[in-house]
Amino acid sequence: MQDGSQRPKVVVVGAGFGGLSVLRGLADQPVDVTVVDRNNFHTFLPLLYQVATSGLNAADVAHPIRAIVQRHRNIDVRHGTVEGVDWDRHEVQVAGQAPLPFDHLVLAAGSTANDFGIPGVAEHGYPLYTLDDAARLRNRVLERFEAAALDQSLIDDGALTFAIVGGGPTGVETAGALAELFDKVLRDDFHTLPVQRARVVLIEMADSLLTPFGTRSRDHAIDALRRRGVEVRLSTRVSSVGVDHVVLDGGERLPAHTLVWAAGVQANPLARVLGVAQGPGGRIVVDRDLSVPDRPGLWAIGDLAHTPGAVEDGGAAPQLAPAAMQAGELVAANVLRMVAGEPTQPFRYRDKGTMATIGRRSAVAEIPGVPILVGSIAWAAWLVLHLVMLIGFRNRLSVLVNWAWNYLTWDRGPRLIFGPGADPPHH
Ligand SMILES: Cc1cc2nc3c(=O)[nH]c(=O)nc-3n(C[C@H](O)[C@H](O)[C@H](O)COP(=O)(O)OP(=O)(O)OC[C@H]3O[C@@H](n4cnc5c(N)ncnc54)[C@H](O)[C@@H]3O)c2cc1C
Repeated sequence: MQDGSQRPKVVVVGAGFGGLSVLRGLADQPVDVTVVDRNNFHTFLPLLYQVATSGLNAADVAHPIRAIVQRHRNIDVRHGTVEGVDWDRHEVQVAGQAPLPFDHLVLAAGSTANDFGIPGVAEHGYPLYTLDDAARLRNRVLERFEAAALDQSLIDDGALTFAIVGGGPTGVETAGALAELFDKVLRDDFHTLPVQRARVVLIEMADSLLTPFGTRSRDHAIDALRRRGVEVRLSTRVSSVGVDHVVLDGGERLPAHTLVWAAGVQANPLARVLGVAQGPGGRIVVDRDLSVPDRPGLWAIGDLAHTPGAVEDGGAAPQLAPAAMQAGELVAANVLRMVAGEPTQPFRYRDKGTMATIGRRSAVAEIPGVPILVGSIAWAAWLVLHLVMLIGFRNRLSVLVNWAWNYLTWDRGPRLIFGPGADPPHH
């Protein structure tokens, strides 16, 4: 604990959208901050699907954490994985490293895939939550095309069938991008293969895609995907997954060598080991000021936190980047208020709207106070917003060049089989 002779120590776990926002708020303030992340880089998750579908390089969507904070002398960086907290000693336990003492601990470790206990998903499914996941899926897609080019009988076996489970933004974006990759790029790359037989099957258990969006956006997404050749299967559940197939409710067996799991998120497993109250999806339940009840000095934000009362109707903030950023901003201010002996303020989530892109010149955008946008105009808004939100000028420039190249030439640059293997993460 603080001994009076030192400045308060703040440890931030996770340099994602929430963690970075805390760091921005505490930069050059009278506290000593250490940010711990299992990666030495921040990942811009909204563009992961473009890495997975050969639209962008992995390095375009990641930025070194040390480069982000290098100008702020009160912020230090630890590259390590947090495993738990020793509450008696007020120390964060980092795998294989010395523990980190704290006066304030901000948990911003995000979420992970939720397989809902469906057999085979953990072993055979491809999640899309980390840069490694994206590279692994890209390798898998390209590797399956290479395998089919060697032995075309594999097509009937499901080598070129890509099942995507989950009709939220990640599933929709990945399905649209894969369909375009096959039709516009791999068709020419693999001219000895009947690439038109490649299938993208998007499976959603609800009766619509993009369920949080309005009817116009949902209809646009379904039409736009079907026009691109995606098979959209609504009101359909997956009951099990094997290495080369997916079994749907009712017993239908879909031969598919690749299953992308975009069906749901749950809190990072760190939430489980801390002995604090968990809400929906295993998220840590926080008070209105984002502190964790009965754990003085502990705060939780972003995807890891359940924030009842953050929305006007009494609900919790959604698992979206702006919500994590707003929470991070408030926690930084609340920590400084406590240090100054002032009362903390409650969190109130401001809805900035939601967007999803389906493919070239096709997207949906619902922004409060603005009519619903669909098609080219929503796509342009999506491109601009994501460029602005990306961290680092070099990344922005690289993404812009890649997008311009893809748009003008109908080509994709980084279709390399490289880095992590092509097997699913738990294989
Ligand atoms: C594929 C995908 C697409 C998305 N698209 C959008 C979108 O278009 N728009 C939108 O608003 N939201 C989108 N989201 C949601 C948005 O990215 C999240 O809501 C947001 O990232 C949450 O921020 P966070 O800070 O809580 O967690 P994250 O940004 O996930 O950051 C968590 C950080 O914690 C680190 N970490 C995790 N565990 C540990 C540990 N044990 N020790 C140390 N470090 C650890 C991770 O490496 C990571 O850097 C998307 C999410 C995904 C997965």
